[in-house]
Amino acid sequence: MKKLSFILKPLVSIILLWSLLVFTNCDKEEFLEEENLSDTIVTNENNIEVEKAYPNTSGEVTEIIFEGQKLPVEKIDDHYVFEGDIIISEEELNASKSTGRTSRLWPNCTIYYTIQNSLPNKQRVYDAIAHWEANTNFQFIKRTNQVDYVYFRTGTGCSSRVGRIGGKQEIKLSNLCSTGNTIHEIGHAIGLWHEHSRKDRNAYVTINYANIESEKDHNFKTYIERGYDGDEYSPSLDFGSIMMYGSYAFSKNDRPTITRKNGTTYSVQRTGLSFWDKIGVSRMYRDVCGTVPNMSGYYRANDGGHYYIRHIGTDVYWFGEHASGNWANIFKGKLDGNKITGQFYDVPKGRIQGSGTLKLTVNYNSTRITKTEGANFGGSVWNKTTRPANLPPPRAAGFGGRNNINNLTARWIANDGGRYYIRQIGNRVVWFGERNFASGRPGWANVAYGSRFGNTLWLDWVDVPKGNANSNGILRINVDHANRLTRVHATGGFGGSVWTR
Ligand SMILES: [Zn+2]
Repeated sequence: MKKLSFILKPLVSIILLWSLLVFTNCDKEEFLEEENLSDTIVTNENNIEVEKAYPNTSGEVTEIIFEGQKLPVEKIDDHYVFEGDIIISEEELNASKSTGRTSRLWPNCTIYYTIQNSLPNKQRVYDAIAHWEANTNFQFIKRTNQVDYVYFRTGTGCSSRVGRIGGKQEIKLSNLCSTGNTIHEIGHAIGLWHEHSRKDRNAYVTINYANIESEKDHNFKTYIERGYDGDEYSPSLDFGSIMMYGSYAFSKNDRPTITRKNGTTYSVQRTGLSFWDKIGVSRMYRDVCGTVPNMSGYYRANDGGHYYIRHIGTDVYWFGEHASGNWANIFKGKLDGNKITGQFYDVPKGRIQGSGTLKLTVNYNSTRITKTEGANFGGSVWNKTTRPANLPPPRAAGFGGRNNINNLTARWIANDGGRYYIRQIGNRVVWFGERNFASGRPGWANVAYGSRFGNTLWLDWVDVPKGNANSNGILRINVDHANRLTRVHATGGFGGSVWTR
């Protein structure tokens, strides 16, 4: 990225903003047309705005002791800015030195958040959150009264703290910060440092200090050079990381500040998490929420089944079915490391009526699942692949009945257009539900898992990727009489409210 002064060159900044929008939203051809507008801002594809907390401001460069380590920083207002967009407060600086990096992880890989009402373009925050949820085991929940949370607000640049600080911590986003920049800032909040400051980066890149803006060279020091202990979670420097700075970061003269060892420049991206970003976050949080990236997606198994897996935090759900209608099941399990233990229940979209425990192992990048325990279950290997265009449509119930208030097992029809295949065993209640089909698949599909107490059902529900919806929540449902259920309470935007059989 070429350093631009947005105060001195307001016109250029407007053009740059436009070109960024074009770059992120449009195809390459339209972006290339932009190159002709101003050679001041674009000479190559590295024209990606790099995140800075205070784009126009330089502060006094100083060294602070942070968590027992020396750290070169700029002091701006009452904050210390480190590597351009990482902010450390006085308060944090004076806090206990014994706080270790591992204690700054987010429990259960869950981040609570709020968004400033006046923040423009909130969609970039929602899109960035959706990206993290789809690709990692993190879940983001709107804060109610939780103590530790992230507050997305406007600011002069893009900035974040690193890791869970405790209490309210801010991610600041100026109007120039894109969805990709927001993904990057969330990466800091989760605990990622910049990729170019890895301790082994000198094996991969050369830092050209002569081209760096004055008093910005501290942004290019490794953890070792700064006396800081950093951990590396991928085997080598990842030029594709969303946390990697471009060749022109903090350049004072339009010449590269970082090149590959052979002297060439490289591109960086702010589109999404790289392969190694996903693996790296999994490893960083291995003791918190499993060691594998998010598994959500479509899998084919060696029992011929279609499996639609949804993975949220450490919870793994699926709906599995065979196109013949012989069997259909739901599963809920818990991820621990790379192992999943859980229960499966056949549901009456098929004819078989089994249930039992499954133990599974997931490979390092969540593309292959192997059964290690579960004798009365047919499948033993699942491979992640592309969801076919045409999926098994709704069908009549394979088992169950009507008129028995003590057993709800049946196919039910709801007022949201859904077909619900409910299975009740004792007080355990599960279902698979799907909307009527349009062009080969349902609009949405979900599984529910919970219990029946008296005439009340308490359920967790999650959408599974047989349809295109991607929500989840809780449900409380009343059993009105043998053949009718009504919704009492729901979260997550659940549509249906009356079921009959
Ligand atoms: Zn950053």
